[in-house]
Amino acid sequence: MALLQVITAPDPRLKRKSKPVARVDDRIRRLMGDMLETMYAEDGIGLSAPQVGALERVIVVDIGGEGGKPAPLRIANPEILWRSEERVVCNEGCLSLPEQYAEVERPAEIRLRYLDEHGEIREREARGLLSTCIQHEIDHLEGVLFVDHVSALKRGIILRKLAKAKRLQTPVPA
Ligand SMILES: [Zn+2]
Repeated sequence: MALLQVITAPDPRLKRKSKPVARVDDRIRRLMGDMLETMYAEDGIGLSAPQVGALERVIVVDIGGEGGKPAPLRIANPEILWRSEERVVCNEGCLSLPEQYAEVERPAEIRLRYLDEHGEIREREARGLLSTCIQHEIDHLEGVLFVDHVSALKRGIILRKLAKAKRLQTPVPA
């Protein structure tokens, strides 16, 4: 497995729509494994393929299992079949918007259909943090960032901060 580079906003690849996976093969399984390793290394709880520059409908999520044990989910072609009327607000962050957080309101519960790492069709329900995290990652596949759910004012502040941080990181040519 290998660590991948996480791209950060403003990068145009984060605004593009990802393509469905035709078949979950060794290449996709390797991508899922590399994404999980990268996510753990960056202390994230979710990561989508476009965030590592692959415009494919693949996400990985791990909010931790019982006793803090790893509980990785490898998901291809996710589809939300049902969303609850009930909504919750969660303070969200994103590895592609480092050190930025905002309160985002989303459906509290979802029912999800996806392909697992063996290409098997699976369905499951999610609520709480898992539900929020999966919805956040699926948004990435549509080119949507969590800041697209907040006010234009708040979004502008966050994106300007990120652009400034990026300029400061870029070495000045000698
Ligand atoms: Zn994100």
